[in-house]
Amino acid sequence: MPAGLYCPPADIYIDPVRPVARALITHGHSDHARSGHGSVLATRETLAIMALRYGEGFTEAQQVAVPGETIRIGEVDFRFVPAGHVLGSAQIVVESRGLRIVASGDYKRERDPTCAGFEPVACDIFITEATFGLPVFRHPPAAGEVAKLLESVRLFPERSHIVGAYSLGKAQRVMALIREAGYEQPLYIHGAVEKITGFYEKEGIALGEIRPVARTDRKALGGEIVICPPSAAQDLWARRFPDPVTAFASGWMRIRARARQKGVELPLVISDHADWDDLQATIRETGAGEIWVTHGEAEALVHWCGTAGLKAKPLHLVGYGDEGEAEPVEEAADAAV
Ligand SMILES: [Zn+2]
Ligand SMILES: [Zn+2]
Repeated sequence: MPAGLYCPPADIYIDPVRPVARALITHGHSDHARSGHGSVLATRETLAIMALRYGEGFTEAQQVAVPGETIRIGEVDFRFVPAGHVLGSAQIVVESRGLRIVASGDYKRERDPTCAGFEPVACDIFITEATFGLPVFRHPPAAGEVAKLLESVRLFPERSHIVGAYSLGKAQRVMALIREAGYEQPLYIHGAVEKITGFYEKEGIALGEIRPVARTDRKALGGEIVICPPSAAQDLWARRFPDPVTAFASGWMRIRARARQKGVELPLVISDHADWDDLQATIRETGAGEIWVTHGEAEALVHWCGTAGLKAKPLHLVGYGDEGEAEPVEEAADAAV
């Protein structure tokens, strides 16, 4: 099985799932950013997030990729361009002998107040994810989903609202959207969300007053909003709040059966991945004649490319988001907190 995307003329891997001598990392989610590489080239934010999660020794050497700047390795030029997925996330533009390939990592097209927006780059080969690459996945505007949450808080002022959201990116985006909607009460966060949230705030993203649940009497949090990792929303941790309403912010919440099966009372369809329409729109915008699909619903997207007259193939890369947005490694870590 390939250990990520390998670029032979530069001898580098993009998002390798096993330790390699030289890695280029698109973003800090644990299925893309792993520790133990010889050297890591990534944006300043991604390097900082990796250090926060794995400790300063997560790699032997590190180099900052400044978005928009070209870095030559061997005969190949590399350039990092915003991907709109989470803070610091980037597509990696690979250019050699007149051929331009874009490895987009994970990306989305919907506006996100917590990170730079996706910038389409014209290319010959576009490498895309397909986490939500099925026609059933159409994400509604996130603001409308947050309005549902705030409406529920108004309707049930005695109940705690426990919102499951991945600790890197989704949690902070949900908090920022809650603030944009005009909600000014303190927001409460689970311990597993604290470090990354502190980093976002340090980077200048205003999230209003945030209070750690750990230093609060949970019984007093009726009517309040609590942000926690999805795993915590589903276990005993959540049941110690007054009559909790469990919510889950994820693209998967489009599937009602999935929400029911996870015991989610208030599904919020908020995703940091492109939906079916945005995958297609993005592929068209790049003008690429050839599409490689890394992970997710590769078959359906490859099939669509065929109908659109584009060459396409699934890469069958393993180790990325087996649960889609669920980041199995991170989930395990979260569960221990
Ligand atoms: Zn990701
Ligand atoms: Zn991913």
